[in-house]
Amino acid sequence: MIISGKELSARLKAEMAEQVAAFPEKYGRVPHLVVILVGDDPASVSYVTGKAKASEVVGIRNTTIRKPETITEEELLSLIGQLNGDDTVDGILVQLPLPRHISEAKVIETISKEKDVDGFHPLNVAALWQKQPCTVACTPKGIIKLLKAAGVTIQGKRAVVIGRSNIVGLPVSKLLLDENATVTVAHSRTVNLPELTRQADILVVAIGRPKFVTADMVSEGTVVIDVGVNRDPQTGKLCGDVDFAGVEPKAAVITPVPGGVGPMTICCLMENTIECFLRRMSDGLRQD
Ligand code: NAP
Repeated sequence: MIISGKELSARLKAEMAEQVAAFPEKYGRVPHLVVILVGDDPASVSYVTGKAKASEVVGIRNTTIRKPETITEEELLSLIGQLNGDDTVDGILVQLPLPRHISEAKVIETISKEKDVDGFHPLNVAALWQKQPCTVACTPKGIIKLLKAAGVTIQGKRAVVIGRSNIVGLPVSKLLLDENATVTVAHSRTVNLPELTRQADILVVAIGRPKFVTADMVSEGTVVIDVGVNRDPQTGKLCGDVDFAGVEPKAAVITPVPGGVGPMTICCLMENTIECFLRRMSDGLRQD
């Protein structure tokens, strides 16, 4: 079975649009997401455009602020500070990666935890690991939604995650653990990776290497989630970290690239923005 993140995200966005349509009457306005784009890297521009389009579908107000690559760290942090203090803003997202003269860690820390729709703030990350209420990073959250929508049982299964980044590998490992999978996290220093991946019931691949996972690395009946977004060096087309043509016949369930995890990431960004908005609204009501 090929799970389409495109279809699932379209369904979920339609549901969110209905929910958001009721907000003006209830709360006087709709959620407001501000996206900051520094420079004009084509991939970043396309991600930011996708986020604006999804906001339009869901009925979320989206403001995209474009800044030149020459913006100083101080100027960017000061802009974030202003947005933190702006009551009409519910979510702030700074599109990564940033130019080298700007510290991503400082930028992430400066966004108020309450407006951190990406779920990257250290306090949100800490809350995730302590099973406290928090904003969960969009890609890992989307992966769990895909698995559940495909009817995959996670509890008791052997999950292998390849990649240990802060934005995908580590948080998805924690979410799978919270769903009672037995989780192994592999990385570039893992010895005999194919032996490990062949033991997986659920294999999540987030490494950023085109078609890295081949058919011989996967057992029959495995659930394969491909997070990678790469250019195929031969064709120049988008491809994942998994050799889809080779692995698909063996997989019980597999996500395509494009149209798998990617759309779910944006869908979860919409959900996180609504959650931040609702939390702020209920905090405001408590203070009144
Ligand atoms: P990252 O920060 O570069 O991390 C890559 C991870 O893969 C690292 O932990 C690295 O191990 C591991 N790795 C690299 N080469 C390996 C190898 N040969 N064998 C085993 N492990 C290896 O990447 P990321 O940000 O997590 O992103 C991973 C991929 O997902 C990229 O293609 C990215 O574009 C894509 N992505 C997609 C979405 C989406 O919404 N679809 C969202 C985010 C990311 P070490 O830690 O040992 O270096």
